[in-house]
Amino acid sequence: MHDDAANHSAFERAQGVLPGGVNSPVRAYRSVGGDPRFIASAAGPYITDVAGNEYVDLVCSWGPALLGHAHPAVVAAVQEAAARGLSFGAPTVGEVELAEEIRRRVPAAERVRLVSTGTEATMTAVRLARGATGRPLIIKFAGCYHGHVDSLLAEAGSGVATQALPGSAGVTEATASETLVLPYNDLGAVEAAFAERGADIAAVITEAAPANMGIVPPAPGFNAGLRRITAAHGALLILDEVLTGFRVSASGWWGYETSVLGASFTPDLFTFGKVVGGGMPVAAIGGPAALMDQLAPLGPVYQAGTLSGNPVAVAAGLATLRAADAAVYAKVDATATHLGAAVSEALSAEGVAHRVQYSGSLFSVMFGEEAAASGVHTYAQVQASDTFRYPPFFHAMLDAGVNLPPSVYEAWFLSAAHDDVAVGRILEALPGAARAAAAA
Ligand code: PMP
Repeated sequence: MHDDAANHSAFERAQGVLPGGVNSPVRAYRSVGGDPRFIASAAGPYITDVAGNEYVDLVCSWGPALLGHAHPAVVAAVQEAAARGLSFGAPTVGEVELAEEIRRRVPAAERVRLVSTGTEATMTAVRLARGATGRPLIIKFAGCYHGHVDSLLAEAGSGVATQALPGSAGVTEATASETLVLPYNDLGAVEAAFAERGADIAAVITEAAPANMGIVPPAPGFNAGLRRITAAHGALLILDEVLTGFRVSASGWWGYETSVLGASFTPDLFTFGKVVGGGMPVAAIGGPAALMDQLAPLGPVYQAGTLSGNPVAVAAGLATLRAADAAVYAKVDATATHLGAAVSEALSAEGVAHRVQYSGSLFSVMFGEEAAASGVHTYAQVQASDTFRYPPFFHAMLDAGVNLPPSVYEAWFLSAAHDDVAVGRILEALPGAARAAAAA
């Protein structure tokens, strides 16, 4: 590796103008320590920092780069769209094509509203649920992250977990009191909450398969159980597929769970993000026409955006989804299985108790005896795991040229561009990282 003085000075300079030197907290390496790498460019499975160091990237922009970075078809689509104009503030055919592509993959998304971030998608879904039901309360699960929406920050995963925050300052008690936070994978707790306050509950929002407290898969029957309980009480089920959508299968976690795992359920609303924009700011809400038509301009639930359905961003999303065929998903699945097994083997060789947890092609490592023995099913269990083993593991990988997510509470992301050479570099780095984890 080159010396990283360039990263250090970039970070110093950034801290003089950006709070914490970053525009999104997890990027700041707060839980792993050290200077974040400032990225100059990326291609395929690799990213290159301002010091010229190249890393195999297992962050993939936190999910969007399913095809790898700077995929030629996506870059060409963006260049062509940009040449036609950056933003019109008027409808375009590209938006219609992207919405149709989403519906083709997830037919229950009969109507789609495009927004720019996952946060906007979940915020809109919550507002729509409240507007449609006339009820105030939302249930979310501890450890699930749905973006930085006031009402959804309580006991959230991702950066909120990384910084060990219970929620956020600046969220009023009144807002917080309208969110009930329940333990994940606990249908009994959901039944009890509905028994007590069912008439006031507008919706349950859940990550389709949680990936913001590390990977904690839904127990068999959990999502379908949420569907059953919400339907019985006239509440909506919002399946947050911002992270999983179009990543774990062509039709997201819902498609994977219903067609591969044999579950049977359909949520009322889906939220999408990340892959749907192919690295540009696009996210979406989808659901049945009767519900979605309650959004403005047809209905009373207001939602809008100057840059919503931005033509350049939509071009990136459409090019990404069009290229994401069955072979892409098969490749990413196979690489995840191979790599997860290799991580496990390296850690076991050093006697580090752990479990690699998967949701489709997403995976992460949970450290500790309890995780090894019986897996991790709740946020409380994640917090009680041996999280201290992650920072030295992370840094050993980084020094060996592999960019992992800079927090144990995040998923590892692969792309179809991770070929044998890139995977080989990861495999070479693992034994040293496992030794560092063992020594922690
Ligand atoms: N929901 C989930 C499940 C997410 O993982 C994220 C972001 N990681 C969001 C919502 C928020 O999306 P964004 O960061 O685009 O606002």
